[in-house]
Amino acid sequence: MREDIVTRFAPSPTGRLHLGHGWSAIRAHDAARAAGGRFLLRIEDIDTGRCRAAFVDAIFEDLRWLGLGWDGDVLFQSQRGAAYAEALGRLRALGLLYVCTCTRADIAASAPHGADAVYPGTCRGLERTPDPARPHCWRIDMRKASALAGPLFWEDEMAGRVAGEALAQGDVVIARKDALASYHLAVTIDDAVQHVTQVVRGCNLFDATHVHRLLQALLGLPVPIYAHHRLIVGADGERLAKRRNAPTLAGLRENGMDGQELAEMMRAGRFPTGFALESA
Ligand code: GLU
Ligand code: ZN
Repeated sequence: MREDIVTRFAPSPTGRLHLGHGWSAIRAHDAARAAGGRFLLRIEDIDTGRCRAAFVDAIFEDLRWLGLGWDGDVLFQSQRGAAYAEALGRLRALGLLYVCTCTRADIAASAPHGADAVYPGTCRGLERTPDPARPHCWRIDMRKASALAGPLFWEDEMAGRVAGEALAQGDVVIARKDALASYHLAVTIDDAVQHVTQVVRGCNLFDATHVHRLLQALLGLPVPIYAHHRLIVGADGERLAKRRNAPTLAGLRENGMDGQELAEMMRAGRFPTGFALESA
């Protein structure tokens, strides 16, 4: 038994959980249970504009339906503002952050057509002080931050030893203009505060781990092991997305499916008709 093994499931209550969330929760839950460790639940609700209390209740209900019990209290990111502000202050004191007033449209316009927009660094080096009258976020000078941190590595149960390459992510947002923190800052701090030892999550977040590893180094936080698992795809080969083809767990339940049987089936590598794991 390894009671010191801690995993977590960290959904955002911006909609109903779908089959892919269920799969991720099962993976994180089972990794803890197999080791005799602890499985935690964290509600990632920093985006108060998009999060709904009803979706929080729905998350509890869906996890129970799958037969996944969590340990201890649920952590709500909406109550963690002070910790995020403290970390933000430390990164600012290191001279690594700058104020950015660019809009989404500004950034999209700078990206090659169809490409995912990496921030082009428009506001870097302007040394502006934040103006409360003007919406702004804080970005990290990734070149400076990477140089300060030096070479970094992390262990991934699937990919092995990975060399950190945060530079390719560009100057990501650390504090959003409309939320308490950015996803990157909140997730990194909370995995540390919850003593998470194994971050089990979908491989769509693999690249984000480069940023998280860098933030761990800058803030002096412990480094968990990562397990980025394969995602479920639909018959069209496309990954499931909240707004697209994804069947919600609530929908499957309403169709008469048994949650614990569904979980057992997926553990055995069988998925509902029309769904499969993305090939490696
Ligand atoms: N809250 C994130 C999401 O729902 C997941 C965060 C994580 O697992 O690191 O996509
Ligand atoms: Zn900018």
